[in-house]
Amino acid sequence: MTTTVRDIRTISLPDLEALLLSWNEPRFRARQLYEWLWAKGATDWDAMTNLPKPLRQRLRETFTFHILRAEVVQRSADGTMKTRWLTHDDHRIESVLIPVPEDGRYTVCVSTQVGCSLTCSFCATGRMGRKRNLTAYEIYDQVVLVNRQCQEAYGHALTNVVYMGMGEPLLNYANTLESVRRLTAPPPEGLGMGAHRITISTAGIAKMIRQLADDGYRSNLALSLHAADDAKRNTIMPINETNHLEALMQALEYFYARTHNRISYEYIAFERFNDTLEDAARLVRLCRRRFPVRVNIIEYNPIEGASFEKSDENRLNAFAAYLANHGVTVTVRRSRGKDIDAACGQLANK
Ligand code: SF4
Repeated sequence: MTTTVRDIRTISLPDLEALLLSWNEPRFRARQLYEWLWAKGATDWDAMTNLPKPLRQRLRETFTFHILRAEVVQRSADGTMKTRWLTHDDHRIESVLIPVPEDGRYTVCVSTQVGCSLTCSFCATGRMGRKRNLTAYEIYDQVVLVNRQCQEAYGHALTNVVYMGMGEPLLNYANTLESVRRLTAPPPEGLGMGAHRITISTAGIAKMIRQLADDGYRSNLALSLHAADDAKRNTIMPINETNHLEALMQALEYFYARTHNRISYEYIAFERFNDTLEDAARLVRLCRRRFPVRVNIIEYNPIEGASFEKSDENRLNAFAAYLANHGVTVTVRRSRGKDIDAACGQLANK
């Protein structure tokens, strides 16, 4: 018979207190331990220096303590850093640190699944298939560990977290939400980040967008739109066949009515596919629903074997100008980290 050793981070603070009291430890030890496990993001037992050595030893013998290990860290010429993490069961996932010191913004882009079950045609992750969901603490740990990298490399803590890495967050719903709860919870429970600093990005699952609203989600939501009509969107994002634009718009209206949280559309510009002025006009219509929305136009980064090309500069500017002239709040995001395959749609554990 095999017995499974429990991971220490599946245990709540009250249960840790009960356990340590049964080991004749004072109650405050549980809080110290809990703080190491979460707010302080310890990466091994020995880091927990205010716990007596015999207690650390007993914990080590009783529990496992899974943590992500950095396997490869790459730094782009523009300062973007991509880390490939190894999970305890030898899966690989990636996070990207995007520093913009001139704006005081230090953003981490985190993964929520190993691979992805959706098959967006422009995305390298989608080609991997989905291997498994990440646990809440594997998502949370990416933020804690990249925060450390950010402080070491840039002398600044992370300011923003975006759930735009590998995987579809709303298809790993419970773990995604629990990781957000941890990030916003004050110590010892979590990092105490402001809810408005966090954005979940989804390919568009109407039912789960409504669920977020019903569950009292307090952070921002980004819809990866990439095409403003169903026929085009179906060809690049098969999820649109079952979650068409009208269903998504109604879900976003519901979301906004209940939460008043910030909504944005992400729109990768593909040369002569979705960057015409007719496309821009359709996009304007999607910005006139019953919620305020801003549009982030993203430069495309070609991946191997995909048939798209990035929009040329003039087309991109004309597209953005059309939106702005029609009252849409629009930002053009130049891609970062291209030289290390860290840009949008490029994460694939190469
Ligand atoms: S774009 Fe996002 S949802 Fe689509 S395949 Fe890639 S990781 Fe999955």
